[in-house]
Amino acid sequence: MRHLLSISLFLLPLAAATQACHAADAEPTLPASQPDIAAIVREISPQRIDATIRKLAAFGTRHTMSETASNTRGIGAARRWIKAELERCGAGRLDVTFDSHLHPVDKRLTRPTEIVNVVATLPGSQPASRDRYYVVSGHYDSRVTDVMDATSDAPGADDDASGTAAVMEMACVMARHRFDATLVFMTVAAEEQGLYGATHWAEQAKAKGLNVAGMFTNDIIGSSHDEHGRQDNGRVRLFAEGVPPVKETTPELRTLVTTGGENDSITRQLARHVKETGERYVPGFKVDLIYRRDRYLRGGDHSPFLDAGYAALRFTEPAEDFLHQHQDLRVEKGVRIGDLPDYVDPEYVAQVARVNAAALASLALAPGAPQDVRVLTANLDNGTDLTWKANPEPDLAGYRIVWRDTTAPLWQGARYVGNVTRYRLDMSKDNVLFGVQAVDKDGNVSPATYPLPGR
Ligand SMILES: [Zn+2]
Repeated sequence: MRHLLSISLFLLPLAAATQACHAADAEPTLPASQPDIAAIVREISPQRIDATIRKLAAFGTRHTMSETASNTRGIGAARRWIKAELERCGAGRLDVTFDSHLHPVDKRLTRPTEIVNVVATLPGSQPASRDRYYVVSGHYDSRVTDVMDATSDAPGADDDASGTAAVMEMACVMARHRFDATLVFMTVAAEEQGLYGATHWAEQAKAKGLNVAGMFTNDIIGSSHDEHGRQDNGRVRLFAEGVPPVKETTPELRTLVTTGGENDSITRQLARHVKETGERYVPGFKVDLIYRRDRYLRGGDHSPFLDAGYAALRFTEPAEDFLHQHQDLRVEKGVRIGDLPDYVDPEYVAQVARVNAAALASLALAPGAPQDVRVLTANLDNGTDLTWKANPEPDLAGYRIVWRDTTAPLWQGARYVGNVTRYRLDMSKDNVLFGVQAVDKDGNVSPATYPLPGR
């Protein structure tokens, strides 16, 4: 629970126009930003991110099958350093552990290999929200041209010391702040060998029934230059899957598609929230939503979370330069090839980290997304009746209904309706897409929940 302020709400610009003809309940005023979130964004340091990336690259290789005994070279040294850093900067607030499992021989593992994730947990401070988790990850393993080569130098600066450094920076900065829900900062191994580290954590979470309300992976977020040297440091790609590619559909999924909600999966709702929050707190920086799971021929650590049924997203730089990832270090025709720290732009990584941190902070301060949201369809009717289950958080202020045209990607209208669990709008459910958000007394807003039909 945060300190109590008068109810204030951020409204989308279009909402004012749409709402003008209706009487608004408890007319909200607009906080340009929450002081805590703005402080976190300011505290993210490109200098520390740069130092972390250079330190990680200096372990020579962080290949998953590289040596683990040395304290200066290989993946063992790297993970012990990451853990020690998180323990140091967490100052007792972060619970830092190794999440380890022995993976058998596999397509990309020639011997049974210990796969170790470094996991730093910042427990939520509100009992009603503590069991709601948000996970942010980067992978600290690296590779060269041959994915089985465990000895050659593989600095992996962009892929993915950049994501690892962003996650470590967020953990260190955010540990100094308090959140209602629990944050998990994770640097994982064996992404390059088959996503084994992230898969292990996601499968355990699913088996334990953990409420992971959102997950972001940061993978290849280091370069603001494309392969022709053109710079674009003002945007990041956010990959967001729509309907999951499951072999057998569930009744909920079938209803989602039947009612035209294919762009309103939990992952797309999370993506909208990240875009809106990120762009609000990092002015001049754009979050480009991409409506697919990932790039062609590529995969990432959000995939096992999606497969476990969680909302999960991937951040990646706008245009990858393939000369500086997955490459043996060499010079060809005067061109330096390899994933070296010199090709990473720490100011850019910091911008992506700020977007992540603003979104995570906003999610972990806000109530959970409303549950059991229904649009009532008992009669033929040109109005819309929405119902939902009451949220459990003690600092809940009420709910906000949002809507958009069926062809629009982002919310266009919003109405705060107070602390009720049922509301009727004089708008046709047939013509727009609705969502319901929960709002706390400080104006922190949850992602929207898509209403399934009910009677
Ligand atoms: Zn990667």
